[in-house]
Amino acid sequence: MLGLIQDRPLLISSLIEYAGTYHGDVEIVSRTVEGPIHRTNYRNVNSRAKKLAQALGKLGVELGDRIGTLAWNGYRHVEIYFGVSGMGAVCHTINPRLFPEQIAYIANHAEDKYIFVDLTFVPLIEALAKELPNVKGFVVMTDEAHMPESSLDNLICYETLVEAEDGDYEWPVFDENTASSLCYTSGTTGNPKGVLYSNRSTVLHSFCVCTNDGLGVCNRDSILPVVPMFHANAWGIPYAAAMSGAKMVMPGAAMDGASIYELMEAEGVTLSAGVPTVWLMLLGHVKENNLKFSSMNRTVIGGSAAPRSMIETFVNDYGVNVVHAWGMTEMSPLGTTGNLLKKHDDLPEDEKIDIRLKQGRAVFGVDLKIADDDGNELPRDGVAFGRLMVRGPWITSGYFRGEGGDVIDDEMWFDTGDVATLDPDGYMQITDRSKDVIKSGGEWISSIDVENEAIGCPGVVEAAVIAVPHPKWDERPLVIAVKEEDHPVTREEVIAHLESTLAKWQLPDDVVFVDELPHTATGKLLKTKLREEYKDYKLPTA
Ligand code: AMP
Repeated sequence: MLGLIQDRPLLISSLIEYAGTYHGDVEIVSRTVEGPIHRTNYRNVNSRAKKLAQALGKLGVELGDRIGTLAWNGYRHVEIYFGVSGMGAVCHTINPRLFPEQIAYIANHAEDKYIFVDLTFVPLIEALAKELPNVKGFVVMTDEAHMPESSLDNLICYETLVEAEDGDYEWPVFDENTASSLCYTSGTTGNPKGVLYSNRSTVLHSFCVCTNDGLGVCNRDSILPVVPMFHANAWGIPYAAAMSGAKMVMPGAAMDGASIYELMEAEGVTLSAGVPTVWLMLLGHVKENNLKFSSMNRTVIGGSAAPRSMIETFVNDYGVNVVHAWGMTEMSPLGTTGNLLKKHDDLPEDEKIDIRLKQGRAVFGVDLKIADDDGNELPRDGVAFGRLMVRGPWITSGYFRGEGGDVIDDEMWFDTGDVATLDPDGYMQITDRSKDVIKSGGEWISSIDVENEAIGCPGVVEAAVIAVPHPKWDERPLVIAVKEEDHPVTREEVIAHLESTLAKWQLPDDVVFVDELPHTATGKLLKTKLREEYKDYKLPTA
């Protein structure tokens, strides 16, 4: 027997319609590429998203068409998120930090019909336009006064396009499984692969982001997503903010510590979200200038493991709660959050940090398990580690156009490529990427564990740990570190520091110092490059 409840589809348009109606005055504040701070609100964003949908309809955009964006976090990008998905087309966010040839590959693979670009990226598309024959036009996200001189003859001005419409438009109703947005994984090897979200998956994910033990987004929040809208939909924050009517503060292109801090203070930011690299810059600025956070009470750290020292600084020195979160583009992206449980209230602060250091517990909707190479489930004892598998209603069932073949098994489990432990309370801890673990004499050494400890050594700013071939042990760990400017930290000091926390067989065989480490377009350490560079490195123990 089926229930007698209305089968209303879950559509992204309903999020902005709700925000426009019930939180119309709530602000969306943006640092613009043109310079000044811009202020708008949900009423205007809903109205302008509708105008954009009208305009795209006139340009011939239909249900399922892909619309690319090359843009920072800002109000026009938010309007595009809702306008494009709301009309039933697919908002394809392109990561501008990728190599130009990858951008061309992605836009062609997606068959983007139009691409919206911030002024910053006009030179980029001028250089690429010849390789994008299927793109009908490039919409520059600015007004007439700022339209650039350009060699391209198919540039459209965003403001002119949008403001030509009257906004007299009803959001169309269609199947909730209709594709809504597309995001290519940055992939450290091979071509990027597209993850295609649906209206349904996005709305369900937003409910989860708004739960207290998700990211706890609510209408009293002023949220600053430093995580870019071109990376896993800014962790779903723009949708969740609309669902709850939270104020949004958009940093535009300025991600340095001083600019982010200034916005946080000026706009009463209560919640922020970003990768550890960004928080390193912010904390550096705050410490150097002896500042405090007057309104921020929590921050979400994800994308890479949050180092212990960073969590301690936020929690102990600044009273900012840290939500350590894990997920991936293929998961919309939220999978786990590291909130403490009631039973942890009376633990000593140090032990609370131990728990926060783990990547957290599955949010409702995400099933997690760890398995060995043959797919056998491993115990949830906090010790055994294996391949981390996931399934759920906002997790990919396959990449766009079937790239990469079948990616889920018969029971819908998706192999994340991460290696992890699960403890009896359900806290998951990433021990490594499956291709990064160091296989030493039959034992696995987590490169991430060694990295985290190395970063805790005074004088070390950043560290990468990779496997280097070893005649006796197969592979042994090598630390490649960046020193704090003018700090005389030595190889011996790093190893001595590690001796206090790591077992003898986990200690690196050597430490080298470099000026900087290579990163992927999303700020993760590019270990494939390091492995290539150091493949012939002779360890002193070899
Ligand atoms: P992406 O799809 O680019 O967001 O990358 C997802 C991958 O980032 C995951 O599979 C993890 O390897 C890594 N990742 C994300 N969050 C964390 C975290 N909190 N700690 C460690 N690794 C993380």
